[in-house]
Amino acid sequence: MGKYVLRCLECGLRVADAYTNKCPRGHDGLLRSEYSCELSLRKLGGIWKFWDWLPSTEKPFVNSDAMPATYKSEGLARELRLRNLYVSFNGFWPERGAFVETCTFKEYEAIATFQRAYETTSRILVVASAGNTARGFAQVSASCGMPVVCVVPEKALRRLWATKEPSHVVLVAVRGDYPDAIRVAASICDACPHLFVSEGGFRNVARRDALGVVLLDAVFRMHVFPTHYFQAVGSGTGAIGVFEQATRLLNESKNMRGMPRLHLAQNLPFAPMFRAWKARRSKIIPEDTADAEIRIRQMYADVLSNKNPPYALKGGVYEILRATHGEMYGITNEEAKSAQKLFESVEGIDIDPAAAVAVAALIQAVERGVIRKEDTVLLNISGGGYKRLNESHLTCLLCKMDATIRALEIEEIVKELQECIKGHTQRATEAGETLNI
Ligand SMILES: *Cc1c(COP(=O)(O)O)cnc(C)c1O
Ligand SMILES: [Zn+2]
Repeated sequence: MGKYVLRCLECGLRVADAYTNKCPRGHDGLLRSEYSCELSLRKLGGIWKFWDWLPSTEKPFVNSDAMPATYKSEGLARELRLRNLYVSFNGFWPERGAFVETCTFKEYEAIATFQRAYETTSRILVVASAGNTARGFAQVSASCGMPVVCVVPEKALRRLWATKEPSHVVLVAVRGDYPDAIRVAASICDACPHLFVSEGGFRNVARRDALGVVLLDAVFRMHVFPTHYFQAVGSGTGAIGVFEQATRLLNESKNMRGMPRLHLAQNLPFAPMFRAWKARRSKIIPEDTADAEIRIRQMYADVLSNKNPPYALKGGVYEILRATHGEMYGITNEEAKSAQKLFESVEGIDIDPAAAVAVAALIQAVERGVIRKEDTVLLNISGGGYKRLNESHLTCLLCKMDATIRALEIEEIVKELQECIKGHTQRATEAGETLNI
């Protein structure tokens, strides 16, 4: 057996990874990576420290220092009267050893995904994004030289920047919202399947395993499992990844205490998983996503907007909440903003609105008495350090993407993309660069 295989959580079938994101038998349940080796810490940069449990069999060529910085909180801990509050900071905060230059944990997903694609497919990745994912993929594309097609809603363009010239990124701006971007990305792949492959979203094991590194890093830092884990969720990809990495660790070392309780937070007024969970439903129904467009526009943390999160399927959010006696929180914009202010003032770093949603959930849980003073708590600050990045004299110019294509007809887009890709390859060859496809 190789280093890892993918196992269908529905039928148990094991398959070799050919950038496989769905069970060959057509099951809807998730594929999960199964690693044959135990986890030993590698002397590699960034998240590759956990290479053993990331879907890669070769020496990583996607190099990056981006990884979580786990530390014991003093400021917020004092404020909430918690003795063992740990923060997993995922963003830019050099003083804490956090060097995620696109300022969110999406960058880990990009690192692991490019490496996985490099090893398992010759096709070009297509990513649909509300902004933060595209930024992560653009940054990593810039540093590893692999091309990527990013499809984003037009209004997310302001979120697209990188600290390196992202010259291998082809950008498609869609008139509409995130779900429209998802549709366009899918059509591009359908129209030209020999050239393009959908990155896979929550079905992509590289994304989940990379986000689960948050937990691995925390456990090594804390020497125990946290009793409670807090995170803001849009799709829940990160939370599932944390659950999966925790499962691997628990199977390995029996002396570790039990699985952390997952406390997952969404931003009202658009919180379909929160609504379904509160109604004790295992499925999201149309009522949960009613008036999506209007509600998404009202969200303070709109990166958390997702109409079709992996909630009901095998291995999805409903299941991991059940398995961990988890809880969901609905956070208003006001609660998020005041949590954000509090965090910034007591911890000394600015945070992403989505991360503020997680902080607000922790505050709620403490107020409700769900958490005891002594409990070990891990708070995932999934993004932050934008202000810190701007202050830093090390910061490069925030580059504009090189190509924007208006979404017209899919055939036209695909034709333009093919030209773009050809252009990239040519320019790279002329410049004597090797384009890693
Ligand atoms: C995407 C994102 C999330 C939510 O992650 P999911 O895996 O989609 O649940 C949380 N915080 C930040 C900063 C994000 O960019
Ligand atoms: Zn199956």
